[in-house]
Amino acid sequence: MDLNVNSKVTVNTAVKVDRLYKSFGDLKVLRGISTEVEKGQVVSVIGPSGCGKSTFLRCLNLLETPTSGHIFIDGIEITDPKTEILKVRQRVGMVFQHFNLFPHLTVLKNVTYAPMKVKKMSEPVAKALGMELLQKVGMADKADIYPSRLSGGQKQRVAIARTMAMEPDILLMDEPTSALDPEMVKEVLDVMKGLAETGITMAIVTHEMGFAREVSNRILFLDSGLLAEDSPPEQFFKNPQCERAKQFLEKML
Ligand code: ADP
Ligand code: MG
Repeated sequence: MDLNVNSKVTVNTAVKVDRLYKSFGDLKVLRGISTEVEKGQVVSVIGPSGCGKSTFLRCLNLLETPTSGHIFIDGIEITDPKTEILKVRQRVGMVFQHFNLFPHLTVLKNVTYAPMKVKKMSEPVAKALGMELLQKVGMADKADIYPSRLSGGQKQRVAIARTMAMEPDILLMDEPTSALDPEMVKEVLDVMKGLAETGITMAIVTHEMGFAREVSNRILFLDSGLLAEDSPPEQFFKNPQCERAKQFLEKML
């Protein structure tokens, strides 16, 4: 019986973060964050500007090297120096505020590039997958055009399809709608909501409180590099436990 319970805990944990510290020179940005995210959970990471949200997310796929602490993805320690960073990045996909599409590649080639290059997927297979994903984000009709001709919302939807083409187990998104004109925010949030419903594990840094409340299972509130609160959205938005979260919400809502 006990064995079963234990193995269940391990199997269901997608991300485990254990006393994560990150400094840039003298600047202590993350100051001991510990948390776990279960498979299929959608976690919104919120907090004041400069509190370490991006740094936290970037540590989860080793875009930043933690100063100390341990990060496990599906039970494998990615902070172990022996872990191959490229393998980690394949499993932990990231979507950025500024899309970062390849300007010299068509929409479809943006999506098929990494699966072909990194996963050695054949072109027909990658194209079929790419078109399926573009369909899902409502961009199939733009497959053959270049990113410069797309709106911000369209670029971000392509960027999401591109990240999903690597079939990550975990999807990280760092303010995916912050660079968009207001009228384009909804189309991207709708795509994100659709992804959340597929059961992929997601961690999203966002200032979209409505989305965080409606779609996420948990809110992680960071303050000055510490995990100041970890609550279900209902509780967080109605009755935040820490004073800084209260102040933050008063400004946001
Ligand atoms: P947030 O995303 O919550 O706004 P960040 O994680 O981007 O915060 O940044 C937290 C702090 O770390 C800020 O003071 C920022 O200036 C600093 N910082 C982030 N990245 C670097 C870096 N590569 N080098 C030096 N300082 C950095
Ligand atoms: Mg940030």
